[in-house]
Amino acid sequence: MGLYGRSSKQTEGPRPKPHVKKGDTVVVLSGKDAGKQGRVLRVLATKGKAIVERVNFTKKHTRPNPGKNVKGGILERESPINVAKLQVICPSCNEPTRLGSHRNEEGEAVRFCRNCKSDLSK
Ligand SMILES: [Zn+2]
Repeated sequence: MGLYGRSSKQTEGPRPKPHVKKGDTVVVLSGKDAGKQGRVLRVLATKGKAIVERVNFTKKHTRPNPGKNVKGGILERESPINVAKLQVICPSCNEPTRLGSHRNEEGEAVRFCRNCKSDLSK
């Protein structure tokens, strides 16, 4: 007995770390939700995607399941969106901004706003 067909492809190599973090406010740059803003609810680092509040809603049809008290119908949920389509909005200057990063005294990578230079690690 074994788990067949579960090995993941290793052809793409290491991905760059997503520039967005959980709790960031982001704006969507392209796609059907272009211009929408929301908070990052989850970052799927290995996929280079993030789930953003109220962004990329997709309808899922659910079947009624009385045993679990689930009503049938159409459920709308956020789907992961590629982080390349997202730009972080700086909480200090309120502008969609590119982020820089540098290392602090403890050697941790600290993100900062290239626009107003404020620290985004807080
Ligand atoms: Zn800023």
